[in-house]
Amino acid sequence: TQILDKEELLAKDRAHMWHHMSPYNPNPMIVTGASGSWVTDIDGNRYLDGMSGLWCVNIGYGREELAQAAYEQLKSLAYFPLTQSHVPAIKLSEKVSEWLGGEYRVFFSNSGSEANEVAFKIARQYHHQNGQPGRYKFISRHRAYHGNTMGALAATGQSIRKHKYEPLAPGFLHVSPPYCYRCPFGKSYGSCSLECAQVYDEVINWEGAETVAGVIMEPVITGGGVIVPPPEYLPKVREICDKYGVLLIVDEVICGFGRSGRKFGHQNFGVKPDIVTMAKGITSAYLPLSATAVRADIADKFNEQGVNLHFRHVNTFGGNPAACAVALKNLEIMEEEKLIEKAERLGVELREKLAFLENHPHVGDIRSFGFLMGIEMVENRDTKEPAAPDKLTRVIAACKQRGLIIGRNGDTVPGYNNILTLSPPFSTTSDDLDFIARVLREAFEELA
Ligand code: PLP
Repeated sequence: TQILDKEELLAKDRAHMWHHMSPYNPNPMIVTGASGSWVTDIDGNRYLDGMSGLWCVNIGYGREELAQAAYEQLKSLAYFPLTQSHVPAIKLSEKVSEWLGGEYRVFFSNSGSEANEVAFKIARQYHHQNGQPGRYKFISRHRAYHGNTMGALAATGQSIRKHKYEPLAPGFLHVSPPYCYRCPFGKSYGSCSLECAQVYDEVINWEGAETVAGVIMEPVITGGGVIVPPPEYLPKVREICDKYGVLLIVDEVICGFGRSGRKFGHQNFGVKPDIVTMAKGITSAYLPLSATAVRADIADKFNEQGVNLHFRHVNTFGGNPAACAVALKNLEIMEEEKLIEKAERLGVELREKLAFLENHPHVGDIRSFGFLMGIEMVENRDTKEPAAPDKLTRVIAACKQRGLIIGRNGDTVPGYNNILTLSPPFSTTSDDLDFIARVLREAFEELA
């Protein structure tokens, strides 16, 4: 009967479902359950989810405490808008602010894209209220992904995701990322002048600082290929933003909530952002929730001399009480079980266990940060020519066949969808890491 059910479901799926990315996905996995780092499909096959869904199930699947937190909250108060207040949102805003080191005010929405839209609107309005209404431009980076709505997509630096939907929001510029393996400035780290950071100074100057509202970046570019900047990069960008009165918006949608081995990714670089956006790991994806945290002195511009100025932005579901209650429980578990420290250790262990890949003829670069990893595949290690797409497809299929789901930095830049990604849940064990290493070893051996 299981087989019949599956065929029936697949027929209905084909008839009615519009899948994300590929609308007519002919053969989707039908996932029916999950526990820890493992998911189970409708045939009873188990897979280690090496991507935590979409880089989001940080604490792992199947935590009953989170289900219980949602249940209790839904029973007592299922909903009320945040033009007023409720207890879980108050507690969560305090907690997020505490995790950021204090002094932030927190605006809740539902997705990472929305959190970024809110950041752009707050930044523009802040400049209006600060007597500089001409500041409307944002500088992002090539390869960056900041979401799928018209503003967040405009900030995204991946042409292939954008070109059929343009024109998008105006006012978004892009500079080259700090991609040392393929330095866009033709330099080598150690003997360069950090041109990737200096470029902000140049662009802001030439655009006219009086027209630039903000810079947006992830601490580490994740979906664009796990691109880890040199340690001096973020501090340098912070310095340039300060020099020109430009706000630094840090997108922590993936890097936040332990993925980087710290509470937030930027904390690895010793910078304090003006605005921080977050989603995914805030609830470990058990319910939708996102947040835009704004430094208190910037937020105070919305309440000057006791005049509470409007920020004309409301969304119905943002900060839903059950989502906030789940987030609070999620953060409590991370603290109690020291999962962030664990994520950092797991990242180091994974890197060690995959060291054998460093010599593989089709591996050009391995980049890791916290419990995130990118394996850049090439045809030839000397020329760094990106690996032919079928090489990645074969590795991914070989992993899947053995019960391991890995990701791919796909469709980012034409010809450069050549980076395999790993971002497992923090519930992953040492045995699970051995499993990942064994499967990847076999998958890469098959390529030879
Ligand atoms: N920002 C980053 C860095 C992301 O990776 C994503 C999603 O993957 C987003 C923003 C958008 O988040 P959402 O899909 O929740 O809208």
